Amino acid sequence: MTTLKVGDFVWAKMTGYPYWPGKIVEEDKDVKKPKGKSEMHYVRFYGTGDHAWTKVELIKPYEENKETFSVANKRPNFIDAVKEIEHASERRGKGIPDTSSEEEESEDENGSDDEPLSKHAKITSKKAEKTTKSTPKRRKQPKKQNYPSREQRFSSDTPDIKLPSSRRSPDTTADADSTTQYIPREVMATDKKIGFIGLGIMGSSMARNLVETGHDVTVWNRTQDKCTSVIKAGAKQGSSPADVVQQCDIIFSCVADPNAVRDIVIGNYGVLQGMSSGKGFVDMSTIDVDTVKEIAEAICMRGGRYLEAPVNGSKKEAEHGQLVILAAGDRSLYMDCYSSFEAMGKKTFFLGELGNGAKNKMIMSMMMGSFMASISESLSLAEKAGLDQYTLLEILNMGALSCPLVKSKGAAVLEGHFPANFPLRHMQKDLRLGLQIGEELEQPLHIAGASNELYKRSKAMGYGDRDMACVYRAVNA
Ligand code: NAP
Repeated sequence: MTTLKVGDFVWAKMTGYPYWPGKIVEEDKDVKKPKGKSEMHYVRFYGTGDHAWTKVELIKPYEENKETFSVANKRPNFIDAVKEIEHASERRGKGIPDTSSEEEESEDENGSDDEPLSKHAKITSKKAEKTTKSTPKRRKQPKKQNYPSREQRFSSDTPDIKLPSSRRSPDTTADADSTTQYIPREVMATDKKIGFIGLGIMGSSMARNLVETGHDVTVWNRTQDKCTSVIKAGAKQGSSPADVVQQCDIIFSCVADPNAVRDIVIGNYGVLQGMSSGKGFVDMSTIDVDTVKEIAEAICMRGGRYLEAPVNGSKKEAEHGQLVILAAGDRSLYMDCYSSFEAMGKKTFFLGELGNGAKNKMIMSMMMGSFMASISESLSLAEKAGLDQYTLLEILNMGALSCPLVKSKGAAVLEGHFPANFPLRHMQKDLRLGLQIGEELEQPLHIAGASNELYKRSKAMGYGDRDMACVYRAVNA
């Protein structure tokens, strides 16, 4: 067996990926070597800038295995990685030091350890200009969107509302956040003053869409930096949840979980302190029925009105005002939210008594979480069975299981790219809350229960802030 050392060019394999060109490098003191008896080397991967402790049995000398491994994968990013190692090897042959991994290292500083192909794309697109001008680059094609009409967007359960003549909302292409494309919507904004508390992944885009459609919006977020882009778009800054409530007629919130909702409502300078007769509080977070009822009672005791309105859809739908809104509770408040829901969603349901929004949301989330866990297991099994995961996903996407979840999360898994659209910790929370409903109703939930364990494990592995698709890492651990 060849003894490998720092500086050697190699083929190395991380679980879930094919053999990939890399170089054995000095270990990074900040990256702990996994426990266990296996001998390992610290490998930096070409193209991706990723690095990992890798078992010696999964590392092969580069030159000797070039013929076997370089033809095994035809994906453009793999081909680019091979070009990079070839370039480095050629330079070494001429006595020029290999600097490619150092460049990758500096790109790595702000990144995470699990984004090989995205980073790869970033790095290789730069390098491709230098070294491989002929490498074709993929371009995103603009998608045609079929948005429902305004009438279709409000639940059929809604009594006849005479729709005001539409007016085009302000130009939404002038965008403070250049990565987000806001789509012009036709909404007749209410003249009521709107508040928005909680500007995370979802809330920031929801508030932004309210502003972009002409609503008068005041925002607050615990971490103030996150207010900047919405303020730039035209919102006002509130100094606390209580201040937002005092300044506004209808206040929306979208925060992490039941504790966060309690903090913003019952906590110091919370919603309750600003609440008075006739004002409306609409919570769009995903929380459990007991918390919904507790908060509703507290708001009503102050003379306010309460509506729960959790949402279906993720980051992209929030950005594009295409959420599905699951409202329940005070019907008069629901009617007052007409233009706001129009700005944020493609369809709003009024589901009747309080708690029905939360239950619907949790049941759907539970289904999605279990399906994602199943996709992860299947892709992992495919790899162990020696199948090409990309081909499997392609086949899957041509059949009855083809759907946005399989497409987007499947690609995320194979590319090891998990930027949070739906943070994994929120999915685990939804599963936990869904299981609670099953517990109360004595409904066995075997699949959701097993899935919950996987998400818990992923959270314990440190992936809580990554996308829910990162549950694959727990399946594969
Ligand atoms: P996120 O990006 O993690 O944002 C969470 C928000 O809650 C942030 O504004 C955060 O403030 C705030 N927050 C957390 N703890 C708080 C506390 N103790 N006091 C005050 N504010 C607190 O989450 P998200 O993805 O936007 O999700 C928000 C809600 O929507 C969750 O209930 C989630 O389950 C639900 N949801 C999410 C998705 C999705 O795809 N992301 C889809 C459907 C439903 P800081 O900025 O200060 O941390």
